[in-house]
Amino acid sequence: MKCIALLSGGLDSCLAVKVVAEQGIEVLAFNFQTAFCSTGSKGASCGDATRISDQEKFNLKVIHIGQEYLDMVAKPKHGWGKNMNPCIDCRILMLNKAKEYMEVTGAKFIITGEVLGQRPLSQHWRAMKDVERESGLEGLLLRPLSARLMPPTIPEIKGWIDRDKLCAIEGRQRKEQFAMAKAYGVENPPTPAGGCLLTDPAYSDRLRDVLEHTGGLTVHLAQVIKYGRYLRLDAKTFTVIGRNQEDNFHLEALQLPDEWKFRPLNCMGPVALGNGPLDDTAKRSIASMLARYADRPADGIVQVEARQGREGAPELFFATAAEPEAVGAVRV
Ligand code: SF4
Repeated sequence: MKCIALLSGGLDSCLAVKVVAEQGIEVLAFNFQTAFCSTGSKGASCGDATRISDQEKFNLKVIHIGQEYLDMVAKPKHGWGKNMNPCIDCRILMLNKAKEYMEVTGAKFIITGEVLGQRPLSQHWRAMKDVERESGLEGLLLRPLSARLMPPTIPEIKGWIDRDKLCAIEGRQRKEQFAMAKAYGVENPPTPAGGCLLTDPAYSDRLRDVLEHTGGLTVHLAQVIKYGRYLRLDAKTFTVIGRNQEDNFHLEALQLPDEWKFRPLNCMGPVALGNGPLDDTAKRSIASMLARYADRPADGIVQVEARQGREGAPELFFATAAEPEAVGAVRV
């Protein structure tokens, strides 16, 4: 008997795998990577599924979902949560993919680490039922951590799994999960799954702005707004100015052939990317915003080089720092 587990990399999905594997069921773990995965310093990262799988010897498959996911984020049927997180549609899409994987691998059902009442939008009972129905998995979606609080699923009814050995956890308290982690000997228990930038308010503001002005999302747009200060110059133009060396590195790597890169020549300072049809005024404006964040020389004049794509002819601007109010007015 085989099942598929949606493994986020957080503690709950890790424990769900343990609870089911303990009953002699082979568990194939399935993890999704999207353009909104963050591997930075903000707590847990999408890479945790790999770490925990290596540690606990889970059989893991990592799937990258691209444009299909971006289109769903741009227009989620069930709407967004508190930020730009379309959790219900996201779960449905992921479960649809897991269902396909279940069918090709001959697995019989799917498990998740969801806990009843733990999350505001996606883990209410009604939302859980919607997700189950819309992904065509009625009766085949088992939540081992809350299973005994829910009607029996097909795996329980058919006796593939012993319902009495499943859990009845509810709510946001995580005491039971930490006790289980200890009992299972899970070292360095992962934090609750994190790493989804769609739940980050600042990132969501930028993404909303991009969506309002472009009408759709691309992997490039989702990526470029991760790295730096995002400034909306007009309906068609925005710039992203790096905050540190890491941002600068990413912005340089992400530059598209039609985007402009700005960098200071006579002092240390950030890289800026300009996206949109930049006329001379827009270029001067970006140069002076970049100068605001540069280590300006004594005369306050920053020489800024602008270049379209990697091969474009360099243009030189002499910029003084934009006033903080002017930057604040366009910063998203
Ligand atoms: S937090 Fe992000 S990854 Fe998780 S269900 Fe919501 S949208 Fe999907």
